[in-house]
Amino acid sequence: MLNKEVRTRFAPSPTGGLHIGSMRTILFNWLHAKNKNGKFLLRIEDTDKDRNQEDAVKKIFDSMNWLNLKHDEEVVIQSNNIERHKEVALKLLAEGKAYKCFATQEELDEMRQKAIDNKQTPKYDRRWRDVCESQHPDKDFVIRLKAPLNGFTEFKDLVLGDCKVNNEHMDDMILLRSNGVPTYMLAVVVDDHDMKITDVVRGGEHLNNAYRQKQIYDACGWECPNFAHIPLIHAEDGTKLSKRTGAVDILEYKKQGFLPQALLNYLVRLGWSYKDKEIMSMDECVELFDITKVGSSPARFNLDKMLSVNSHYLKEMEDVDFFNAVELFAKESSLSFDYGKEARERGIKGSAEVKVRVRTLLEAYEMLLIFLEGPGFFGKIENCEIINHLILEAEKNPWEADAQSWLREKIAEKEGKLKDVAKKLRVALTKKTVSPSLFEIMQFIGPDIFVQRLKNSIKVDI
Ligand code: GLU
Repeated sequence: MLNKEVRTRFAPSPTGGLHIGSMRTILFNWLHAKNKNGKFLLRIEDTDKDRNQEDAVKKIFDSMNWLNLKHDEEVVIQSNNIERHKEVALKLLAEGKAYKCFATQEELDEMRQKAIDNKQTPKYDRRWRDVCESQHPDKDFVIRLKAPLNGFTEFKDLVLGDCKVNNEHMDDMILLRSNGVPTYMLAVVVDDHDMKITDVVRGGEHLNNAYRQKQIYDACGWECPNFAHIPLIHAEDGTKLSKRTGAVDILEYKKQGFLPQALLNYLVRLGWSYKDKEIMSMDECVELFDITKVGSSPARFNLDKMLSVNSHYLKEMEDVDFFNAVELFAKESSLSFDYGKEARERGIKGSAEVKVRVRTLLEAYEMLLIFLEGPGFFGKIENCEIINHLILEAEKNPWEADAQSWLREKIAEKEGKLKDVAKKLRVALTKKTVSPSLFEIMQFIGPDIFVQRLKNSIKVDI
């Protein structure tokens, strides 16, 4: 028998941007589909109009494009399918697998209170389940599923293994509200079925929904897809992720200067790993990914680790690619980057020094300025005899190929200490107390800029 095409989907409600957790859900869906030569689809679940945010869909697309996790086929917009959801609810009603319920809000509140008083989980008491049509009042009603009364609802989750709930603990869920609007539970099942989704990979918070959805599949006589509920991502200290600990819009990380490939590499290891491989390309991940090997306990988000993965990728780049990435980043972030040929050459050479010292493109940009900028880029220092000597010598007898020997020699001539002078030079030439190798900076900016930055930084005319 031919294997069925694996089809996964990501189904966000457009209530905001994507954060680390939802991005990892996309990645696992995408990897699982690609690993199986299948398809990864996107569905926007926009039926709750009150919660929809206008720019959320754009943010979702921007994030997915940035990380190059493209969906296959046309995007499905859930609100376009409302008539189809209703049709399914009415079909179940006609087949006797669902029923009209006329319970009022007051009655439901009363049931709820009674359950709470008896220390039980609130449940609808099925009072309309067996009432025959002839006794129905002419009032508004909802349509509820006739859920099984005995036995268990169970499935084998690809991540969590055997999942099972006693049907005694379930009630008859609403499929269609009295205003004719389908519930989320019904809409998800109908859409997944119609999109021929075979594997539902999503956050563990949906596990309870899966039992209900399984009951709808069964009532419809449809094959239930595989479920894979992936555990939540916690903060480093084991608490829920918050804005402070990393639950920010993924596009924030773009602004901070993360490389997409580094972010993906970090994300994939939040819950899945292959041997002890830390660094993996997406091609490798596609080949090796196995959804059944995703861990069932929560992963922990660690920003430092993510930064170190980013710095690894920055270091690995060719100098010119690194330079181009910084330039693109600067332009996209509206940071000025308007340099002529000479400055760019210095910048590309300086990239070798910069890329091994930074963790983000933003840091890289700030450090590259040391090489890109001309005489106007300087930090203030106190003047002293050695600095004056260096200025004069750099004008009269500048270095050519070896700034290091030159500097050592000039300092020795005045019986100074390299360590002390270097500290001052560093500030004068880079505005920073920590920077790439001073000798390399001198080599790349050349004697002219060296002299002018020094002169500017001591603010004296010589
Ligand atoms: N729309 C749901 C959410 O954003 C996801 C539903 C699902 O994946 O089944 O949480």
